[in-house]
Amino acid sequence: MTQVITLLHHGAMGERVIGHIEGVASGAIFRRRTDVRRAHLHGDTQRGISRLKDADGIYVADAIVLNGGYEDDRDDWVRVKYTGASPDKDKAPDGKRLLRSQSWEYRDNAALKLSFERKYPVRIIRGPEGDERYSLPDDYRYDGLYEITEIRTAVSISPAPDGSPIHICQFELERLPQPEQELTDAERGIASVLQQQELIQEEDDVAVQGEPGWSDSEKFPRVRPASIQRIVRDAATVRRVKELYGHECQMCGLRLVGSDERPYSEGAHIKPLGKPHNGPDVERNILCLCPNCHVALDIGAVVIDDDWSIVVRAGLFGDNVRAKLNRHKRHRVHEEYVRYHREWWQQKRGSSRP
Ligand SMILES: [Zn+2]
Repeated sequence: MTQVITLLHHGAMGERVIGHIEGVASGAIFRRRTDVRRAHLHGDTQRGISRLKDADGIYVADAIVLNGGYEDDRDDWVRVKYTGASPDKDKAPDGKRLLRSQSWEYRDNAALKLSFERKYPVRIIRGPEGDERYSLPDDYRYDGLYEITEIRTAVSISPAPDGSPIHICQFELERLPQPEQELTDAERGIASVLQQQELIQEEDDVAVQGEPGWSDSEKFPRVRPASIQRIVRDAATVRRVKELYGHECQMCGLRLVGSDERPYSEGAHIKPLGKPHNGPDVERNILCLCPNCHVALDIGAVVIDDDWSIVVRAGLFGDNVRAKLNRHKRHRVHEEYVRYHREWWQQKRGSSRP
């Protein structure tokens, strides 16, 4: 992973580069493909793969768009299976299937393959036609840097019209860890401090594991210690969710205001970021909560039902159904994340009972 970090550099304004684009944070949204291109995130408004000349004059890829591509594509947020490109004449009219096998020599595939060989990170932009668990209904969103972990020639799900197998250029990508999705050197400095703290935290966890009654090594970790969380600027996704609710807690309605008149709220990922959960940093997985409710969610003191009721665990007295989660009409929290969170804690609870 370290060799990837050293390759990242920040482009000056108006320049398309490998890695992050100066001034464009992960989570930034754009109305159309032309806006994505104008931000220098992707060099084209039609193609999936964006190419860029490397220092030696040979094309590498700097970005891909996930927007309902081929049927062999798969998107699990952290891991992405991506089918290479084909000339239009090789595509079925529905755009999902192919009529002919793909070639590693085809310009876009050759560029993405070279990025794999040179260990260059690739920017991923998700469009409105992408997986509905991650995509915004109308906009394109920059989802940060991914590394290509594997390439292979694979056989497509659907054969050619004459029944013969179709070979595709398949790429596997994995999202770089959250600290590497930060923008500036200053932010990366903070990120490395956080990473060290997480390592210390992990060591503590390992130490605790040896004690009886503390066998739960897996838990829902807060990704960042609260004291440092305030220094790190909110991701664009979190900021948008908070603004939608005017910093009012979606669970209890509390809206905290500091002495400087500035409201305070926290962006809570329902399915947590990072291992082992690998929840996505998307609006549909984020709640605007007060610090108290944020903690309650993170430790499983509350879970959310399929009908959006908030269920409070009340120890001896059993469960307590409270009001429903407040949901803005422009914020479609996805049931899958709520269910993941609930089932995770239910399973924990079940296993801790005598
Ligand atoms: Zn609250």
